[in-house]
Amino acid sequence: MSNMVLKNVNKIYPNGFQAIHDFNLEIKNGEFIVFVGPSGCGKSTTLRMIAGLEEITSGDFFIEDKRVNDLSPRQRGISMIFQSYALYPNMTVYENMAFGLQLKGYDAEIIEKRVKKTAKILGLTDYLDRMPRELSGGQRQRVAVGRAIIRKVDIFLMDEPLSNLDAKQRVTMRSEITAIHRKIGATTIYVTHDQTEAMTMADRIVVMKDGWVQQVGTPKELYFEPANQFVAGFIGEPPMNFIKGSAQGGRFHINDSKVSFELGGNFTGLLKQNEGKAVTLGFRPEAAMLSSAAGNAEGIKIDAYVNLTELLGDNANIYGSFEGTDLIFKLDPHDIPKRHAGCGFFIPGSSLYLFDSETEERIK
Ligand code: ATP
Repeated sequence: MSNMVLKNVNKIYPNGFQAIHDFNLEIKNGEFIVFVGPSGCGKSTTLRMIAGLEEITSGDFFIEDKRVNDLSPRQRGISMIFQSYALYPNMTVYENMAFGLQLKGYDAEIIEKRVKKTAKILGLTDYLDRMPRELSGGQRQRVAVGRAIIRKVDIFLMDEPLSNLDAKQRVTMRSEITAIHRKIGATTIYVTHDQTEAMTMADRIVVMKDGWVQQVGTPKELYFEPANQFVAGFIGEPPMNFIKGSAQGGRFHINDSKVSFELGGNFTGLLKQNEGKAVTLGFRPEAAMLSSAAGNAEGIKIDAYVNLTELLGDNANIYGSFEGTDLIFKLDPHDIPKRHAGCGFFIPGSSLYLFDSETEERIK
């Protein structure tokens, strides 16, 4: 296990493009950290700088208090699993896993012991004699993980390791990787563009956009306390709803509409402080309920027009429009309203979020 610190790290590629701006992060021993963000946000660049595969343009990277900017990947004690986990096609599962250790000149006996132990952790014991072509995508992925963990390194880096798997295999591998992490305890950094993977696997998530860290926090912190509109919209599925408006007399006034809301709670004071400013109101689809079921709770009522309903099994997505904005509401499947008709939805005041429309920072 190893702790790591990245301090004011920047990356400028030789063509002059700055891919990473002032990246700061402290990673504790044994933590499972996920870098998440849309394509091109700089996740892989950061991971490759940590691995030692890409030069750090400026800033410092420490492992166990030692500055390692100039150390090779091997000297850093890091093992990396890439998107394309090429196994050697002419070697058995056993040979694939043993190969790295053989190159390093380990005894055959030690190699056998380690391969068997690793295969047991990964549920590959019965497949050791098979060739890669005789395995499912998920099993091949596990062999790739095996090749990495057999090296007994302190730090694992994984770059979209599940991207070649189908949806079902991804769900299985997600829990397998977290279980392996718990067993071996190595500090792990995992890169994905998939917020569900981030939410289900991470101890802490680093949300990135355009080379800038947007927020670092536990899945719960990011979901309930997003720092800005980008994080609020990126974490959660379906994404948070946003309604554009302005602060007027302590109320939220919807743009191009006569409708305004009294948001209650702290919001009245916050809106007064931001009088006249462009602000955006946010709420998660799953915060909504039918207004007929709301009782006297504090919150806002949205009389939307229902365009489409989608039964998903344990819940339903309702696609509506309201004062020129498309909204999604997530309801109990027994509450599905009629399509092509109006319906009242209620959002509790405690589930509302307010953002500065210009800076997109959360107002709280
Ligand atoms: P993806 O999810 O698509 O892999 P990412 O978040 O991992 O994206 P990076 O691969 O880190 O993104 O790329 C970050 C930015 O740096 C992108 O805009 C990319 O075009 C740019 N970039 C990557 N490699 C180079 C390079 N060698 N030279 C110049 N720019 C590069």
